[in-house]
Amino acid sequence: MSRSAQATNQGPEKEHRCPACEGHRLIPFYRVSGVPTQSVLLRPTRAAAINAPCGDISLHGCSDCGFIFNPAFDPNTQNYNVDYRPSQGCSTTFSRFHQDLAGYLVDRHGLHNRTVVEIGCGQGEFLQRVCRLGQNRGYGFDPSLVERNEDDVTLIKDVYSARYRDLKADYFICQMTLEHLADPAALIDLVHDAAGGNPDAVVFFQVPDVRRIITETAFWDIYYEHCNYFSPGSLARLLRRRNFLVRSLWTGHQGQYVMLTAQPSRKRAGEPLPGEDTPEEMRRWIQDFSQETELRCRDWSDRLATMAESGKETVLWGGGSKAVAFCTTLTLRYEIKGVVDIDPAKAGTFIAGTGQEIVSPEALRAARPDAVIVMNPIYMEEIREELSRMDLRPELIPITARPAGRLGPKPKFEDGEEE
Ligand SMILES: [Zn+2]
Repeated sequence: MSRSAQATNQGPEKEHRCPACEGHRLIPFYRVSGVPTQSVLLRPTRAAAINAPCGDISLHGCSDCGFIFNPAFDPNTQNYNVDYRPSQGCSTTFSRFHQDLAGYLVDRHGLHNRTVVEIGCGQGEFLQRVCRLGQNRGYGFDPSLVERNEDDVTLIKDVYSARYRDLKADYFICQMTLEHLADPAALIDLVHDAAGGNPDAVVFFQVPDVRRIITETAFWDIYYEHCNYFSPGSLARLLRRRNFLVRSLWTGHQGQYVMLTAQPSRKRAGEPLPGEDTPEEMRRWIQDFSQETELRCRDWSDRLATMAESGKETVLWGGGSKAVAFCTTLTLRYEIKGVVDIDPAKAGTFIAGTGQEIVSPEALRAARPDAVIVMNPIYMEEIREELSRMDLRPELIPITARPAGRLGPKPKFEDGEEE
């Protein structure tokens, strides 16, 4: 059973304000204490991993706009230096998703010979794809950049801020960034400022879809760095509130991400798009989340303890935030022998909080585990192929596997479906 996930009472709370709408009718619904504040920072020793700084997660849902956030988040704990490794770029499945998405955006918005700004560009791989496909000029901003410049893109090792607002662009991309910001509205306002003079400018946002997290009681997808949790409806409402006209809204990568395009407007504009979820729906989703998660944690703890006691060696595949949230929420130690990651930079580092070593897939040839828990089931086939190439056939367990009959609400949007 989990050490720290616990139910909290569901009455409205007044001390905090919603960062999306400034409403104060907030419903606290899920709490985990003492989790690492930075789960993907490389930890070179087990001691450094176990002693990683910790913080609390206390998820609140806003009754007024449906936004979910963690008011216990302290932005000063975040340090995005070059040891920050969030990228899934080493995976062929993820590269294919990025390639398809870049092609789609270039075609859909006629991105040829344009200027594209990407905010939070990681190491710039996606921006480069967009620029190569459409002969566009790109400017990428990210504090964790290992600085380098290519012909078509300029990569700037910095947080995108007001000092760059005069850099005029036709297209703004912001993937997997809004969920990290204590004040997401401030960044949206800044983009509005930068894009405002150009009536044809388009912005593209991508964030994780909280509906999938709730539906799957995916407690491993709730971690400290993600202080915000969006649904299609709450993301669209936030953009409209900041004077953007939302043009399209869809989900992708098997329902893992919400994606949205919008254009700056002079006033609050536009009606909800068909299929947008409402704040009332959010209230229903979160109602049983804490209790369901408690059951889910107990299932996993019992299962892993039984496996370990019967002499089975189990490893996790995927050494990112999901593995850290899974291990720390369940306080796993001996039950997990190690964690595999295909990013060579992570090999020989350790999982923040619980201290399991991260190894390369090749290390499994000697370790020969009995079971592999796949932290992101979207990569099951890729992992199965990699294991069979090494002549290994452990039991492959997708993280989402659980007893039937406890499924929550089904997401309304399907992959690639729009508006
Ligand atoms: Zn709100």
